[in-house]
Amino acid sequence: MQITRDCVASFHYVLKDETGIELESSAGSDPMTYLHGHGSLLPGLESAMEGKTVGEKFTVTLMPADAFGELRTDSEQRVPISQLKGGRNWKPGMQAVIHTEQGHQQVTVLKVGHTMATVDTNHPMAGKTLVFDVDVAEVRAASVEELAHGHAHGPGGHHH
Ligand code: ZN
Repeated sequence: MQITRDCVASFHYVLKDETGIELESSAGSDPMTYLHGHGSLLPGLESAMEGKTVGEKFTVTLMPADAFGELRTDSEQRVPISQLKGGRNWKPGMQAVIHTEQGHQQVTVLKVGHTMATVDTNHPMAGKTLVFDVDVAEVRAASVEELAHGHAHGPGGHHH
């Protein structure tokens, strides 16, 4: 069975930067499971999955613009510490989530004052060329419920 729109596909991956340094991997955990054709993955990765079958291994390279964007130089922003979510006892270098008009945004804490913090709003993977080594683990038709929800259920997928 090939990966086509409305399939649920599972895959293991190793994510490296362009110099070969490993950034992330699904080794030792459930494979990533997603509903194909619904924009669940980075677009360049999702289109590379199209037509692949179980057991197929391939590498896809995404330029920054197709991944998490270019590094912006105007990315420093001062925000109230109370708006930093996802942790506590903030220190420079920690990752936080802030809520913006565009939704949730992952930021890196640069400086922490008494009530305000300075954060870098560049995504931690902004400016990076991403290299995914992909190993397709499973392909199946989506259930009616998964199609209605627009995401995959089960291990590695969405949990309610
Ligand atoms: Zn659901």
